[in-house]
Amino acid sequence: MVQSSVLGFPRIGANRELKKVTEAYWAGKVDKEELFKVGKELRAKNWKLQKDAGVDIIASNDFSYYDQVLDLSLAFNVIPARYTKYQLEPVDVLFAMGRGLQRKATETTPAVDVPACEMVKWFDSNYHYVRPTFSHTTEFKLNSSKAVDEYLEAKDLGVETRPVVVGPVSYLYLGKADKDSLDLEPITLLEKILPVYAELLSKLASAGATSVQIDEPVLVLDLPEKVQAAYKTAYEFLSKKEGLPKLILTTYFGDVRPNLDAIKNLPVAGFHFDFVRVPEQLDDAIASLSDDQTLSVGIINGRNIWKADFSKAITLVEKAIEKLGKDRVIVATSSSLLHTPVDLENETKLDAEIKDWFSFATQKLSEVVTIAKAVSGEDVKAQLEANEASVKSRSTSSITNDAAVEKRVGAIDEKLSTRAAPFPERLAEQKKEFNLPLFPTTTIGSFPQTKDIRINRNKFAKGQISAEEYETFINSEIEKVVRFQEQIGLDVLVHGEPERNDMVQYFGEQLKGYAFTTNGWVQSYGSRYVRPPIIVGDVSRPAPMSVKESVYAQSLTEKPMKGMLTGPVTCLRWSFPRDDVSQELQALQLGLALRDEVQDLEAAGINVIQVDEPAIREGLPLRAGKERSDYLKWAAQSFRVATSGVANKTQIHSHFCYSDLDPNHIKALDADVVSIEFSKKDDPKYISEFSDYPNHIGLGLFDIHSPRIPSTEEFIARIGEILKVYPAENFWVNPDCGLKTRGWEETKAQLTNMVAAAKHFREKY
Ligand code: GLN
Ligand code: ZN
Repeated sequence: MVQSSVLGFPRIGANRELKKVTEAYWAGKVDKEELFKVGKELRAKNWKLQKDAGVDIIASNDFSYYDQVLDLSLAFNVIPARYTKYQLEPVDVLFAMGRGLQRKATETTPAVDVPACEMVKWFDSNYHYVRPTFSHTTEFKLNSSKAVDEYLEAKDLGVETRPVVVGPVSYLYLGKADKDSLDLEPITLLEKILPVYAELLSKLASAGATSVQIDEPVLVLDLPEKVQAAYKTAYEFLSKKEGLPKLILTTYFGDVRPNLDAIKNLPVAGFHFDFVRVPEQLDDAIASLSDDQTLSVGIINGRNIWKADFSKAITLVEKAIEKLGKDRVIVATSSSLLHTPVDLENETKLDAEIKDWFSFATQKLSEVVTIAKAVSGEDVKAQLEANEASVKSRSTSSITNDAAVEKRVGAIDEKLSTRAAPFPERLAEQKKEFNLPLFPTTTIGSFPQTKDIRINRNKFAKGQISAEEYETFINSEIEKVVRFQEQIGLDVLVHGEPERNDMVQYFGEQLKGYAFTTNGWVQSYGSRYVRPPIIVGDVSRPAPMSVKESVYAQSLTEKPMKGMLTGPVTCLRWSFPRDDVSQELQALQLGLALRDEVQDLEAAGINVIQVDEPAIREGLPLRAGKERSDYLKWAAQSFRVATSGVANKTQIHSHFCYSDLDPNHIKALDADVVSIEFSKKDDPKYISEFSDYPNHIGLGLFDIHSPRIPSTEEFIARIGEILKVYPAENFWVNPDCGLKTRGWEETKAQLTNMVAAAKHFREKY
């Protein structure tokens, strides 16, 4: 029998139970016992679900209250001193590192004030991990028994699991040096951390674990030689320790071939590769195995919602079996299913034709099992036939294909994707038009999405209030936000985005070619989940999507009102894309749809328009080379298709967040003003990196993921630092990102202090 394996299951719960309980805990509404109880219930449910589906190898330690990489940092005592000095409970240290903590002193406890650790994209996914932060004083030691506890918890429930742990090389390489130790290269800590890995693995073995999924996803990146060499050191060290579990060295999201030499003769029990993403690596992967090593064949996509094409998957697995035999092949998900929604059965509103094309995490369990059965020679004829029919219906459906859109994309040329004049000329006209002060202040778009907003949105969705009542409510929210911004003296205003549930879904719902779910949530970071819409066919925009709200907001004020759209690449990246046409084609279609919207906004008198592209960096192919340079070309082009149809005096903004952006990647967008998440960057090298950015730039000045309020002095100090390297006349003053996850109280204080700092510098220059 060929075994089936699932690399990890979504931990959020089918009804977002994890979000509800963690947020209640943060708000002080439930205690930690309740938090832990819900966590335990979720784990039990997920294990049972997988067991009942017939999955042979089920993961444990895939659960986390915030982030699995952060869990490991806690487990290994990689905790910067600023988080330990308050004697917080471990779970509160976890949350303080994840989201920052600011708490007034009480009679028994001191005041707490720590910012969050840096959070970055998990490879090219929309998940974010908390970056391990190392310093010369980091003392690795085993601090937590989480992995062991959860293994035993499953065992108690009668489920034998394979614990998953991020491996030592990836863990170090994904981290960074703390600001007090900038000369430290994390990978040089390998020898120090290995004994702690050995200790953890040995504890897992004593608990009964026979094998461990050791994730080494950095193997799909271009690795410096030093890091490649670290594999040998690490895994030889571990293999020499007595009594450790078998290790399955696991990679995903890309091509391992360029690093195969680094892992070829490693003393591990087997490897897992992602053959959904790179089926071409099969032959080399097989050739690199030694005689006793197994190959876990990642063939059910952990990153999207499409039903697998069984016949293709089976062909690939059979090829592996032919060379290795049934005992050495495992049928697996390509990655953890963390990146897919929990259960398609919860979608009652999806069109039946479309629903039949989809498979969510729960459905993917049976897909893995079915393929394992098929290649083992069991009778799964009925499942195979149903799958074939479904795959065929999709490719021929009129939902998938729209000739008019295809024609319009074919007509895109240089002229259509270039602004009428170069930036200096545009800037001159924009100066006349807006007459902004030096250090213009603005925000990135959203304001707090209060409970009231969510309640009204829900009522409207359920038909409990009329469209008119809902519009009156939204308008009153817009007015509140406009008045607030005027009152605190911001220069370029926004309408606050109260009508948007999410920056991509909101547009997805209004575009043709999209389907959307009611409960298809996926974790983005911590308790923040997104519900990506799904691109099911050729995309176009039947009617204006945002004009009404922006025009209403502009009617309330003399100050410039910034229209707010989500860019083509971000729409693509934060949707589940089609897997039957290229990403480039989908981005260009989205670019055209947004171009229509940009032009409608301009015609309606909105002369500052921000087209957000926070996802542009995450879409960057993980390795350098042609795929990457092609991506940069079409990503920029689709943005310019969207934004270059406007007059010179119309000011195009763009915004980027979440990652180590390379200034060269955004120059080609030719936006007049860009704003970038920046507040947690403290490496002076990175600070100066954008200083020759040719157009205007706003480096984010405070962390919007945290309720912490920097003082005016702190803002002044930070801006002062930045102005040592940046030309003052190019510099905008803004937060890192939108404020939708914040409360009003901190938002008011944060922005008031930020504006005060801008005014301070206006007087000096
Ligand atoms: N305009 C969006 C907002 O303010 C941008 C969000 C983002 O970049 N993630 O919410
Ligand atoms: Zn952002």
